[in-house]
Amino acid sequence: MNKKAAVIPGDGIGPEVVGAMLEVLRSCNTGIEIIECEAGSEQWERNGRRDSTYIPEATSQVLGECGACFKGPTTTIPEPGAPRSVAVTLRQRFELYANVRPVRTYERITPGRDLDFVCFREATEGLYAGVESDVGPGAAIAIRKVTRRGCDRLLDAAARWAVERGMSRMVAITKRNILKKTDGIFWESARRAAGAAGLGVDEIYIDNMAQQMVLRPEQFNGAVLASTNLFMDIISELASGLAGSIGLIYSANIGDAFAMFEAAHGSAPDIAGRGAANPAAAILSGAWMAGHMGEADVRDAIFSAAEQVINGGGAVTADIGGSATTSQMSAAIAGAAAASLRR
Ligand code: ATP
Repeated sequence: MNKKAAVIPGDGIGPEVVGAMLEVLRSCNTGIEIIECEAGSEQWERNGRRDSTYIPEATSQVLGECGACFKGPTTTIPEPGAPRSVAVTLRQRFELYANVRPVRTYERITPGRDLDFVCFREATEGLYAGVESDVGPGAAIAIRKVTRRGCDRLLDAAARWAVERGMSRMVAITKRNILKKTDGIFWESARRAAGAAGLGVDEIYIDNMAQQMVLRPEQFNGAVLASTNLFMDIISELASGLAGSIGLIYSANIGDAFAMFEAAHGSAPDIAGRGAANPAAAILSGAWMAGHMGEADVRDAIFSAAEQVINGGGAVTADIGGSATTSQMSAAIAGAAAASLRR
């Protein structure tokens, strides 16, 4: 296996949380070869806004030589003519069709709410296909592209995830009563994939799903939730909010030949440079990358160390009720993970 990983520190709090993630991996003696490289809007501004993308050529080359990538949060400038987001560019370049976000809660942070499910978001099509056009003065359309191939590869991956973890149910989120053709394809594909894997499958419309997530999210425990790009972007973000802090939510973007790991949060410029960012999401995404690259022992040690530190509450950042800095929290996780690997 290619054990080279490109690591992009990114913008805003990116260098702080990515530095924390690397400290933890190194304390576990990872055998992954880390190659740090630049991407994002800060380097784009520094270089005089010359490039047509936020990913410089040198970084692009490194990415091509690696088996995986860790992407720190990067800012996307909301101006016409500015490049498209780093994540969207990488998802499309490497056909990272499954954006996977496990959602789980921690006893100390959300007492009385125990959530454990996973969100599978189609990440190359839907409204993110990037096809928009003007159709007259003051009128424009955006294309919501849905293909059987795109749905099948996502939903087969979701079904595999469920089977490998002993989960028995898939929930497909659609709006098929309105989007009959596009969500018709999605639902057919979900039924086929779930049936072939021996899973139960339910369909729930996106508007009702939003309500159910607020009223009784526990009903989704043990299920793999799957949807098209924008619907699941919103639902997974809602689910992240239920976990208590966006600083805890980790994710991966998985394709057949490459994977990109990232925290679910953005570059949070409001708290950048203050040591206030919660590094847990980046550290857990990094642990997942280690597992993906063959280091299951490192992954498991980091996951249990993070759980211990988060539930302990003594060395955690302010967003989850503590007063530790980013590096104090990562040092606590690194110490606990390294100690458990030595045992
Ligand atoms: P971007 O434009 O890059 O998506 P954003 O500021 O719009 O960035 P997020 O970065 O996701 O969106 O953050 C929203 C808010 O959540 C931030 O303003 C910050 O206060 C808080 N936040 C985000 N990430 C963390 C973190 N790791 N630790 C603590 N607070 C965080």
